[in-house]
Amino acid sequence: MAKDTSEKIRCDACPVMCYIADGNSGACDRYANQDGQIVRLDPLTIFDRRLAAGDTVKPFLGAGWDGGLGSESDLFVTAIGAGTTYPDYKPAPFVVSRDIDGVDFVTVVTEAIFSYCGVKVKIDTDRHLGREGAVVRCDGEAVGLVITSEYGSQMLSLGGVDHLTGGSKKEGRVTCDTLMKLCNKQAVELTIDDGATVMVQAGKPPIVDGIVESRMRVGCGSATIGMFASQWQGLVDEVVVVDDHITGVVSEHQAGKVIDWQETGIRIKGRRSTPGRYFQVAEPGLGWGGTDIEDPLTILGDWDAKKGARPGLTLLMVSTTGEQFAYFVLDDDLVPQPAPLPDTLRPTVDLITENCEPALCTVLFMGGAGGSLRAGATKNPVKLTRSVQRRHTTVSCGGVEAFVWPGGGITIMVDVLKLPDNAFGYVPTPALVAPLEFTVRHDDYVELGGHDDAVRSIADAIEQGSEYGANARVLGPGADTLLTGHDGES
Ligand code: SF4
Repeated sequence: MAKDTSEKIRCDACPVMCYIADGNSGACDRYANQDGQIVRLDPLTIFDRRLAAGDTVKPFLGAGWDGGLGSESDLFVTAIGAGTTYPDYKPAPFVVSRDIDGVDFVTVVTEAIFSYCGVKVKIDTDRHLGREGAVVRCDGEAVGLVITSEYGSQMLSLGGVDHLTGGSKKEGRVTCDTLMKLCNKQAVELTIDDGATVMVQAGKPPIVDGIVESRMRVGCGSATIGMFASQWQGLVDEVVVVDDHITGVVSEHQAGKVIDWQETGIRIKGRRSTPGRYFQVAEPGLGWGGTDIEDPLTILGDWDAKKGARPGLTLLMVSTTGEQFAYFVLDDDLVPQPAPLPDTLRPTVDLITENCEPALCTVLFMGGAGGSLRAGATKNPVKLTRSVQRRHTTVSCGGVEAFVWPGGGITIMVDVLKLPDNAFGYVPTPALVAPLEFTVRHDDYVELGGHDDAVRSIADAIEQGSEYGANARVLGPGADTLLTGHDGES
């Protein structure tokens, strides 16, 4: 039943400042009014590191075993479910100390609100998704762009402040939603201007224009020749590995030369780079080896009898995943005629396939820990930055140690697959909410101007919670015994 507005209370965990009626949640669905108190709906999440170490049973013969569940050093308070103390002139929601091998460490945890953040997406596929710089869209809104393609993968850069705040309201909202879903390991359909439609989900194969990608190529055409030239020798007269980037020809390639492969008089249409290596044999596309061709013979010119072409000469053409292959025999006019692949060659094609990695999508969250956030950790924020840069302070995201970029600021990247599910949230400013933890020796924390008065024990954090409630869970073997009266999950 709708409540009188006078009963609504204000959530101050982000700039939106929702007024929330009793029993309802705010715009981000992370906070609710529960009996007149604003509470964080997701439980504060604590890792029991014995899980990460693969330990679920205490060793009977361990000399130091005291019969208990393990030391504090096994436990790590993450920022998942911790809440935010916006604006961060006040200490972060939890500043927790714990003893690790006799050394007192402090971990500052907060759910950081990122108006400046994005994801880098690596899509393992040969297939051409779009030209570099092309706009990537979700629900018709621009959410990022295609960036450099890497070895066997196409890369997207999504989000960032320009899309979150620099475009229309809808663009910001869709961008934020796209980032959150990708970071929470959900599937998102992206379309690329003048390119493909691709379904992206962290840890899952990409689906390009409705086709599930299964294999990441073994290498470029030249690398494939290098790897397998000796396997083909004596079984076939010529091998062409068709690839959008570098198409390889074994008889001309250095790998063929060193094993004394005979010339065949083959001619490849394309730009010759070095012997046996050709660029631009076709346009990029969804066909053979990431080209736009379905018939590999279209990349061949006339055969030269003076350089070794002869009737009966055999030719294997294969793609960089081994998914496409064809076998030909030159007729009396030196025209390749299709023929069944001999049984002797089949294992060499299978070997290419066997050497391919499974194609996956990888999503890295990337963000810069900004000024006010750092104020939640220390009264002198730049000291935290310097401490991170000196590696005195470790930065983690949902308990996963983050890669910290060199240079100014605290710019981090983390593989979202390593985090627990649904670790990310949003606020409708729009901005992404990501868990962030800083861990530092207690004496260093004092030195960098930390909020020492706010430091408390893990037991106190579990028992008392924060101003947003005391809902907590432990992920790992301690789940059943470390908490009483709270949600447990193992
Ligand atoms: S959007 Fe969420 S965090 Fe922000 S004020 Fe509303 S309920 Fe609180």
